[in-house]
Amino acid sequence: MRAYDIILKKRGGGELTTGEINFLMEGYTAGTIPDYQLSAFAMAVCFQGMTERETLDLTLAMAASGDTVSLKAIPGMKIDKHSTGGVGDSTTLVLAPLVAAAGVPVAKMSGRGLGHTGGTLDKLESIPGFRSSLSIAEMVNAVQRSGIAIVGQTVNLVPADRKLYALRDVTATVDSPPLIASSIMSKKLAAGADAFVLDVKTGDGAFLKTPEQSFALAEMMVKIGAGAGRKTAAVITNMDQPLGRAVGSALEVEEAILTLQGQGPPDLEELCGVLGGWMLCLAGKVSSPREGEAKLKRVIESGAALDKFREMIRTQGGDVRIIKNPDLLPRAAAVVPVAAAAGGCVHRLRAEPIGRAAMLLGAGRERGDDVIDHAVGITLLKKTGDSVDTGDKLALLHLNCAIGAPPAEEARRLVLGAYEIGTSPAAGPALILGIVDEKGSRPAH
Ligand code: URA
Repeated sequence: MRAYDIILKKRGGGELTTGEINFLMEGYTAGTIPDYQLSAFAMAVCFQGMTERETLDLTLAMAASGDTVSLKAIPGMKIDKHSTGGVGDSTTLVLAPLVAAAGVPVAKMSGRGLGHTGGTLDKLESIPGFRSSLSIAEMVNAVQRSGIAIVGQTVNLVPADRKLYALRDVTATVDSPPLIASSIMSKKLAAGADAFVLDVKTGDGAFLKTPEQSFALAEMMVKIGAGAGRKTAAVITNMDQPLGRAVGSALEVEEAILTLQGQGPPDLEELCGVLGGWMLCLAGKVSSPREGEAKLKRVIESGAALDKFREMIRTQGGDVRIIKNPDLLPRAAAVVPVAAAAGGCVHRLRAEPIGRAAMLLGAGRERGDDVIDHAVGITLLKKTGDSVDTGDKLALLHLNCAIGAPPAEEARRLVLGAYEIGTSPAAGPALILGIVDEKGSRPAH
C-alpha cells in the first residue's frame, strides 16, 4: 500500500477502505508518512468529503493512535461533555460538579483555550494550587473517591489528531466537517466515557457560523458515537453573544461559583440545565432530559453542587477558600468601564470581538505557547435586550497593562464596537436552537 495511491483515490472522489485509512493514520503517527502527504490528503477530503463509514473509520483509527483511557474501575455510566468552543463558556466548571453531585461520575479530560475561545483547564488553573496534570491512575482514583476529576489530556492522547490538527491549521483544511467530527470524537472516544453530550455552538463567536453547518456537524458526530457503540446527543446552542457575563479565567470561576449557588446569569443556568438534563438521561438516572433538569435544580438548591465543586478543588490541591472569598483568585491591577455613547436598547452584542478583546488583554492565546493571564478579562454588564442610557457602563475591562496602553485601547474599541444599540426594544436571542440524537434532528421547542 502507498500513501500516494490513497491520496489519488480520495482526490478522484473514491471511497477509501478501512485498511487504507488505518494505513494512513498508523504511518502518520509513526512518522513514516510525512506531513506533506497528510496535507494533500486533508485537502482532498476538504473537496471530496467522506462517507459515514470512512468518517467513522478515520475517527477510530485516530482514537487508537495513542493512549486510550479505561474508566471501567469506576462504577456506573460515565458521561462526557464537549463544547465546540465559545466566548465566556464556563459551562464545564458548573456542569461537572453539578452532574457529579447528582450521582453521575465525571472523569473529564479538558483542553486549553486557543484564539478567542477559552479552555476549561486555563480557568481551573486560576485557582491557587489547582493541579490539572494528574496521571490517568490519579484521575481514576480521584473519581473513585469524590465522583469527579477534571484533568488535562495526556501528551499521548490521540497523537494522530494532535499532528493533523496542527497541520490543518496551517494548510487551510480546518473547516472540513468529516475532519472536524473525527478530530473531536477521536479524543472523546480515547478518553473512555460511555456516552457523550455535545454542545455544538453556532453563531458569531463559534467556530461554525450558521445553524445549518452546526446541525450537520452534530449529526455527523452523533452517528460516529452510535457507530462506536456510545450513546451520543448534541444540543445546538447560540453563540452570537457571549455566554454569561464573565470572560476570562478567574472571572469565569467566580461566575461558576455563583451559578452553582443558583445565582448565575440566566443563559448560563439555562444551558447547564439542558446539557445536564441530557447527561443524567443518558446515564439512566432519569427518564427524560426535562426530569434531569428538574433534578439538577434541586441539587443546586440543596447546596450539594457547590459542595462537590469544593471537594474537587480540594482533591486536586486547590485553595477551597476561593469559594467563600473569590478575592483570593488572581485579580487585575485595574478595572476600567466602557461607557455607552448613546442610549437605547442593546440589539446585538457580538461574541467574536469580545473574545478577541479578552485575548488582547491576555485572557486568551494567540499562539499555542502563549502564557495566559488568569486575572484579566471582561465583565459584560449589558447584554442583548437590555436598555441603556447614554454614559451607562456597558462592560468592565480587567487590566494588568497600563490604562491607555495599546492593548487596553484596542480592547476598549473592540468591546464598544461589539455592541449595537438601537432605539426600538429588542429581545435576547434564543439560546437552545435544537437537539440531535439517535432519533434525528429537531428544533428545541
Ligand atoms: N476542535 C477539535 O478538537 N478539532 C477540530 O478539528 C475542530 C475543533
